[in-house]
Amino acid sequence: MNILVANLGSTSLKFRLFRFDDAGGAVLLAKGGYERVTDYGRAIDDCLAELRAGGHVRSAADLHGVGFKAVLGRNLTGCVPADDRVIAALDGFREIAPAHNPPYATGIRRFREKLPGVPLVALFETAFYQWVPEAAARYAVPEAWHEAGVRRYGFHGASHKFVAERAAELLGRDDVAERVRRLYQAGPAPLPAGRPALRVVSCHLGGSSSVTGIRDGVAIGTSMGLSPQSGLPQNNRVGDLDSAAVPFVMKTLNLPLAEVERQMTKESGLLGLSGVSNDLRDIRSAALQVNPRAQLAIDVLVHATRRWIGAFLPDLNGLDALVFTAGIGENNPDLRAAICGGLDQLGLVLDPARNEAVLGREGEISAAGSRVKILVIPANEELVVARETLR
Ligand code: ADP
Repeated sequence: MNILVANLGSTSLKFRLFRFDDAGGAVLLAKGGYERVTDYGRAIDDCLAELRAGGHVRSAADLHGVGFKAVLGRNLTGCVPADDRVIAALDGFREIAPAHNPPYATGIRRFREKLPGVPLVALFETAFYQWVPEAAARYAVPEAWHEAGVRRYGFHGASHKFVAERAAELLGRDDVAERVRRLYQAGPAPLPAGRPALRVVSCHLGGSSSVTGIRDGVAIGTSMGLSPQSGLPQNNRVGDLDSAAVPFVMKTLNLPLAEVERQMTKESGLLGLSGVSNDLRDIRSAALQVNPRAQLAIDVLVHATRRWIGAFLPDLNGLDALVFTAGIGENNPDLRAAICGGLDQLGLVLDPARNEAVLGREGEISAAGSRVKILVIPANEELVVARETLR
């Protein structure tokens, strides 16, 4: 079975083609993408031509499904056929994810036209948070706001789900790993009595970042809220901010709402703090040249990550594993060391040599005596989308 995973940006189309064997094992056959896309129809044609040239997919008939990592939809989540209902749900929350929802709605329409008969599937990034307790998902807003959709949805669901499953495997909890695999089919399965809870905090640190608390493979809460603008400081997006800041700058700096929104999404986050770049590599180089704003950007990211890790400890009643994933989490030992510093009383002790040695690959970085395992698990969101599409 050949499953194509399409990642749609406002001006880009990236794809990965997986082949699944009968046992569910997956091989990545091809990956590629196009930037500065103005015509999705053409980009899809180019993608299919590339797959044909690679000999993997001779025609659309060799494609058994296309999966989309959709962000969020109004009154819809989970893993569902990418049909008119999905397009309406994406349109309904266009205002919350303006950079993501319109391209997905357009892209799904164009894939449907170009590949009639090929099943299309949307896996929402919010799907992993369907079982978050209501108290952790609600904002203290008037009921009418809540009914309009103002609540915590959470994002990076495919990434944190992958971490939940892989961490369970690495910790020898196959029961929990199987529970994660089947989560979107039947909801959280009952666990055998008497097994201790598996308590994980997953730190997805990348161009955008979030921290999720996971008990027995199921999310109990996450740092992102109504939109992907919330939680940790992002590359150029603000993250958590007191809501009073918006009316304050509108009045005192005389900024119209559209300009405030632009600055919060394009000129804030690591870029706004550092004044250097939205990429941590550039910020680290600047910090090494003793640029205090660059160092502050790193310090703020570390502080926010630690704070969000701590946010889940009471509800989890402790921790078995702390996991780092995504571009920053996988490749920055010094940042991991800063995040894990001084946590020995909570049972977390990093092994400096292991930490330095694990770059862009899976590995344990905690010291031999550390009660809590500290793990690096490379992000594999596309595989999650492909597996759910196959199912
Ligand atoms: P996105 O969230 O856009 O998918 P990534 O997960 O790739 O992005 O994360 C991008 C961030 O990860 C950047 O800040 C970059 O500095 C960092 N990063 C990615 N790859 C590396 C690397 N090999 N070494 C150091 N930092 C990296």
